[in-house]
Amino acid sequence: MNYQNSLNFAQEKDKEDSLRSYREQFLFPTFTKKPVVYFTGNSLGLQPKSTREYINQELDDWAKWGVEGHFYAKNPWMPYHEILTKQTAEIVGAKPEEVVVTHSLTTNLHLLMVSFYRPHGKRYKILCEAKAFPSDQYALQSQVKFHGYEPNDALIQIALREGEHTVRMEDVKSLIDKHSEEIAMIMIGGVNYYTGQLWDMEAITQWGHSAGAIVGFDLAHAAGNIHLKLNEWGVDFAAWCGYKYLNSSPGGVSGLYVNERHLTNKDLPRFAGWWGQNKDTRFLMEEEFSPIPTAEAWQLSNAPVLGMAAHKASLDIFTSVGMEKLCEKRDALTGYLEFVIDDISDRYDNVDFEIITPRDKTQRGAQLSILAHGQGKELFDFISEEGVVADWREPNVIRIAPAPLYNNFEDVYRFGQILESYLKQ
Ligand SMILES: *Cc1c(COP(=O)(O)O)cnc(C)c1O
Repeated sequence: MNYQNSLNFAQEKDKEDSLRSYREQFLFPTFTKKPVVYFTGNSLGLQPKSTREYINQELDDWAKWGVEGHFYAKNPWMPYHEILTKQTAEIVGAKPEEVVVTHSLTTNLHLLMVSFYRPHGKRYKILCEAKAFPSDQYALQSQVKFHGYEPNDALIQIALREGEHTVRMEDVKSLIDKHSEEIAMIMIGGVNYYTGQLWDMEAITQWGHSAGAIVGFDLAHAAGNIHLKLNEWGVDFAAWCGYKYLNSSPGGVSGLYVNERHLTNKDLPRFAGWWGQNKDTRFLMEEEFSPIPTAEAWQLSNAPVLGMAAHKASLDIFTSVGMEKLCEKRDALTGYLEFVIDDISDRYDNVDFEIITPRDKTQRGAQLSILAHGQGKELFDFISEEGVVADWREPNVIRIAPAPLYNNFEDVYRFGQILESYLKQ
């Protein structure tokens, strides 16, 4: 695409954008002194205006029905999570029986690893990213310790090459080959939270399976951002959170996926709860656990309806847009951000912006991570003062995620103008 770093160009692109009206469906933060440029949908998605109504519906039904709301609420609470299933399956490219919305991300990762990390004999290692998101590191370390292994020995970390910022898939392949007899499980973030790199999940799943390993992904930065095809790729399990690109409220309910081939395996170990019990017998309070033959079997507890109502509000928006269109706009918008950053970097001597996210749009989603050579935290503090909500990581990385549901080309243009006003000083 031929981009131009001008207001006119940005406004023209916004006019042509078939998704432009979705911006109106979100509430933009009002705390900034200058008009906000919100670029942290990868951390906490914005609130859809409809969320309040969806939650009020449940509050009203709770007021009216008390416990009977489980059966008589407009959206009965007993099976409340079921109204999220089909839409969730579409977002991650799964069959409805392969997904469930329940708990939070790290909890779900643990529950899935209880079932799918099954070390035995020589095959006890986990292949994972070096410098994974801290919660994932702690989860992985504690899982291997739980089975009596040492993290230093049992975790094989995929490291970056000297001087490089992103992982080469050929290096993942050679590590899998090298340790093919020892790897019990591969567990990687589908999109790296720091660099925004999208991994080739299909290839990794194939390589992992050829080596006899189980393959799972943390999709925190991928769900609602990447056009996922978990079933087609044959991924064994995955989990994600609802509050980043999926806009489902702070700490909101999250989802998990288990490939259909595992759903009827009664030998899988699991930590069970009554909401995973077959629905016909759940209330018979029988002693023997008989899991639902879907991903719902991993549910422990009954549905947290208020959080799920918020999730439903956002899922309805995703359903009306569809991942295909969303990803088209994502690429155009992220490409524009890349163009504007490069343009500024070329024109100013006092900065060298290095985009450490892959340039290839098939290897990234909405996020660009930018190293600001020659500049420090003052640059970031300045743009924050000017209304930009972005993310700063020491020593000098700025993470910017224009969310295609509600960000537009003018946001990107304005961001560039704010950067320039600092560099001109
Ligand atoms: C955001 C994020 C988390 C957060 O986990 P919670 O259990 O939702 O607090 C974990 N892992 C990754 C990779 C993340 O990006």
